[in-house]
Amino acid sequence: MGFAQRGTDTQRRGLTSRDMGILSASPWAHVIRLTKRTLLIFAFLLCAGWAAPLRAMVWQVQHSPPFTIYYHPQDSKNLPGVLKALNQEYPVIRERLGLPLLKHADIYIAPTLEDFFQLSQVDLPAWATGYSIPERQMMVLKSPTFGTPLRDLSTTAVHELVHLELESDLGDVLFPTWLNEGLAVTLSGEGASLPRSILSWAILSGRLLTLFDIDHVMGMSAQDARLAYLESTLAVDDLRLIRGWEGIRDLLNQLKATGNFDSAMVKVYGIDEAAFEYDFLKKVRQQYRWAVLADPMFYVTIAFVPLLGLAGIMVWRKKRRIMKEWEEQQPEDIYWGERNP
Ligand SMILES: [Zn+2]
Repeated sequence: MGFAQRGTDTQRRGLTSRDMGILSASPWAHVIRLTKRTLLIFAFLLCAGWAAPLRAMVWQVQHSPPFTIYYHPQDSKNLPGVLKALNQEYPVIRERLGLPLLKHADIYIAPTLEDFFQLSQVDLPAWATGYSIPERQMMVLKSPTFGTPLRDLSTTAVHELVHLELESDLGDVLFPTWLNEGLAVTLSGEGASLPRSILSWAILSGRLLTLFDIDHVMGMSAQDARLAYLESTLAVDDLRLIRGWEGIRDLLNQLKATGNFDSAMVKVYGIDEAAFEYDFLKKVRQQYRWAVLADPMFYVTIAFVPLLGLAGIMVWRKKRRIMKEWEEQQPEDIYWGERNP
């Protein structure tokens, strides 16, 4: 085996030597060798992880303590709006939720979907516009230059800031997604723009989500996610109706102290999550069952159904008339029964 291997190696070296001789004789040989070397060096850099710093070189940075925004040139026009929203809403969020000062937050505006997934490092649904990572004190936002955003960039930045502050403060304490999303939607101001008619459609079709269902929002379609966000913000509205923002602050403090959401709810509101959910869903069903009547699309649909029926009747009558005319034009002596027994 050893001998055979040596023989093969010799033959290979011989072939290589001949090829090199032919290349040396060509005027392009030097250029080809250089190109091959360049490709090898580039491949090495990629393998050695040098590509990341090369890619990072195109990020531009804007410091506005406690925020540092990383962005690409095409998003420079979006920066003033994002910074204005963050600086304006940050003290309001802290005051309303009673949260400590954020030491630092890195905000990345991902210029492509690939960058968005690379930075967030999780499998996010297509409708996601941002993601916060409290362990790294950072958030990743989708640039509006790609995709179809569910909400605008400034609103997403404030929405993710609420998540970042809440999750940083509560650490490992588990709390329901509806509270997390409800506070983010409420404090970013997007709750008012969510149409209440989607609740009617959900109630009438039996698709109203329970508060427990909302824990799985990341696996939902864009349509169901919108319903989950709306129900979350309405649930937070219900809590605020009882004891305002002071109640929410007490709830978060109790949650931090006990590490148990049910205990915190009982302590602050006198009911556990299941009882709150029962009352909440009952109220939603009563209040929003017919909210669809305020939706212009409902009337378009109502008008469209008879029109569709009318169009169907007209097509059927035309077809019937053509058949009748065709039957009248046939010779009288044709007896189909004999020809097609
Ligand atoms: Zn969210």
